[in-house]
Amino acid sequence: MTERFVAFDGVTKTFAGGVHAVRDLNLDIARGEFVTFLGPSGSGKTTSLMMLAGFETPTAGSILLDGRSLDRLPPYHRGIGMVFQSYALFPHMTVAENIAFPLTVRRRPRAEIEDAVRQALDLVQLTAMGGRRPAQLSGGQQQRVALARALVFKPPLVLMDEPLGALDRQLREHMQIEIKHIHARLGVTLVYVTHDQGEALTMSDRIAIFRDGSLQQVGLPGEVYERPLTSFVAQFVGESNQFAGTLRDVTGLVELDGGWRMPATIVHPLAIGARTTVSVRPERIRLSRDDGAAGAVQELIYHGDHLRVVVRTDHGHAVFAKLLAGAVPAWVRDGAAIRVSWDAADARALDALPNHTTEEKLQ
Ligand code: ATP
Repeated sequence: MTERFVAFDGVTKTFAGGVHAVRDLNLDIARGEFVTFLGPSGSGKTTSLMMLAGFETPTAGSILLDGRSLDRLPPYHRGIGMVFQSYALFPHMTVAENIAFPLTVRRRPRAEIEDAVRQALDLVQLTAMGGRRPAQLSGGQQQRVALARALVFKPPLVLMDEPLGALDRQLREHMQIEIKHIHARLGVTLVYVTHDQGEALTMSDRIAIFRDGSLQQVGLPGEVYERPLTSFVAQFVGESNQFAGTLRDVTGLVELDGGWRMPATIVHPLAIGARTTVSVRPERIRLSRDDGAAGAVQELIYHGDHLRVVVRTDHGHAVFAKLLAGAVPAWVRDGAAIRVSWDAADARALDALPNHTTEEKLQ
């Protein structure tokens, strides 16, 4: 069981006007863990983080930090470090003064502050930049200053809300690794908000996936990717083929709309005859010349390290497969006749997506 360093116990947040931003959130975070809140815009990630920070108050439920209820503890007494997308640095202060700020307001002795600022500057690799003003730094450097400022008072818990959102892709990927290294080195507990599933998979110990204010699934990156519990998670994390169909028997045989009968693993509680969405990762699609549903190669897209292949089956399904470069048979050619199949273990029969619920809609 996860140690409850941070615990959300039945936390709900309803804003004036009846917006259900967070619904009955139950989540435990262990000391030293890196947990990411992942979800589309408006799914309740930031509101959950703001309640933990103390800037929003839960409508119901409570939040514990290290066994203590945060119910009546104001933000500045929670001892939590925060980093936002907007760096929120003070423009008139130097980098060193910005980083020192949390210690200055805590009235720490000058020697201790100087020492801590030096260490924090080293940690984010800005050793020589202490005398500059924020305007004299690049976006990436400013974000490092914000990071150093959040870490300088050695908080046991650090919250980050889309901290890399304003950076270009290359710098973002670099900073992802750097934040991961800093987390490992300091052993701090980190809660990170992003809508970028790649970022979540790369950085996190565990990922909590939000949708419409509800937690959909919590798990290790590999678990969430390999074993999604809902069709939303299968669609949101990584790429997947999603086929609408009807469950035909208890072994997981699904009749896909259009008449293709394929085996799947029943994940969602489904009665025989229930509508379902079958989800298959593109790298788990098997292409063959003699085994599976007949079709033709409709599209081949070269991606350097892999090839994306779209097969249009005779049943009318577009099936998307991913093949590693170097493992592409010569018969996978544009327009070639080809057959597609998958193992039951690689296909997950999940809840029906809204547009997959009635057979009529698909006709
Ligand atoms: P984003 O990635 O866009 O920040 P999010 O997943 O963090 O999205 P939240 O910001 O937590 O989502 O918002 C959840 C819901 O609550 C949204 O419908 C949002 O419009 C609403 N909401 C957020 N803050 C307020 C507020 N102060 N008053 C009213 N509604 C709000």
